[in-house]
Amino acid sequence: MMKEAIHPEFKKTTITCACGASFETASTKDNMKVELCSQCHPFYTGSRGKLVDTGGRVERFKKKYNYEG
Ligand SMILES: [Zn+2]
Repeated sequence: MMKEAIHPEFKKTTITCACGASFETASTKDNMKVELCSQCHPFYTGSRGKLVDTGGRVERFKKKYNYEG
């Protein structure tokens, strides 16, 4: 019997962003981490002025979770 999958199996995956936002999507990979998302990337928001504030949020996020990096 030739019953091998010819396409990757998509499953629910949680993407976590450095800004603290997380959202679910379907992917062949397990949980993923990103540095920018639609919540904090000025490209998505279309507001370049938010960039400074975004940096502050990321720094607070790092402090909150004692994240060095
Ligand atoms: Zn983000």
